[in-house]
Amino acid sequence: MIDDETPVLDNHLHLDPENHRGIDAVRDFARVGGTHLLVVNKPSWHLGVEAETGEDFRSVFERTIEIVEQASAELPGRAWPVLGVHPGLISRLVDDREFDPDEARDLMQAGLDVAAEYVDSGDALALKSGRPHYDVDDAVWEASNAVMRHAFDLGADLECAVQLHTEASEEMTDVAAWAEDAGLPAHKVVKHYAAGRLEGPVPSVMSDKDRLERAAERGEPFLMETDYVDDPDRPGAVLGPKTVPRRVDWLLENGYDEAVRIAHVETPERVYEIDTESTLERA
Ligand SMILES: [Zn+2]
Repeated sequence: MIDDETPVLDNHLHLDPENHRGIDAVRDFARVGGTHLLVVNKPSWHLGVEAETGEDFRSVFERTIEIVEQASAELPGRAWPVLGVHPGLISRLVDDREFDPDEARDLMQAGLDVAAEYVDSGDALALKSGRPHYDVDDAVWEASNAVMRHAFDLGADLECAVQLHTEASEEMTDVAAWAEDAGLPAHKVVKHYAAGRLEGPVPSVMSDKDRLERAAERGEPFLMETDYVDDPDRPGAVLGPKTVPRRVDWLLENGYDEAVRIAHVETPERVYEIDTESTLERA
C-alpha cells in the first residue's frame, strides 16, 4: 500500500482548462494516493488556437500554468507545467493550412522559444517537443527533426529537461546523441508514451501492467504516466487519472518497492531536479 511518505507522480497528463474535467481529474488522482503531477499543455488547436506566430502560443501556456496552480492546491505534493509545441501541429500546418515545411518549422520553433521564456522565469519546469509518430514525407520529417533539435538547444541553455512525443521505439540512441551534441545530457531527455524498455532517452512508461513490469524488472531509471487527455470527445482514449496511484499500489503489492522509488523519487530528481519527498505533506 502507498504510505504517507510515498510520493506518486504522473509524469505526463493533460488538464483541460475549460471544457472537460480539469480539477476533478486532479481530485480523483489525489483521492487514490497521487501526490505530484507534470501537466503538459494540450495541443494548441485543441484550445482553439490556430497559431500564426510564436506569440500566439502564449495563451495556451498561460492557461496551462493557471490550471497547474489550481491543481497544486488540491495535491498533498504539487504540480508543475511542461510547455511546448505538439509535433502533430506540423501536419495541420502543412496539410490543412498551406504552410510549407520550412515555414511550419519556423513557427513551431518560435512557439518553443516562448515556452522557454516560462522555463527561464521559473513558471514552467520543462519543455515538450518531438516528431510525428506516424509516417510523413521527407521534408516534413526533416523539419520535425529540426524543431526537436531546437528544443534540445533551448533545454541545454536552460539546463531543463525535454519531454518527447515520437514514434514508438525501444531504441532512440541517435536522438539522445543529438541532445548530447546540443549540450543537453541524454538523462534529461524523456520519451513519453514509452514501452517498458528504451535505449537512449529516459522512458516515461504508459502505466499498463505489462509495460510497468518490464520497466521494474530492468532496474534502470524510468517514470510512470497516463497521458490522460481530458478530452470529452475521446473518453477512453488513454488511461484515466487514477491509474498511476493504482499501479503503484499494485507494484508495491508485488514487491517492486525499489522500482517505485526509482520512478517517483530518484528519476524525477535526476531528470528534472525536483524533490518529490520534501514537497510532500500528507495531512
Ligand atoms: Zn500527451
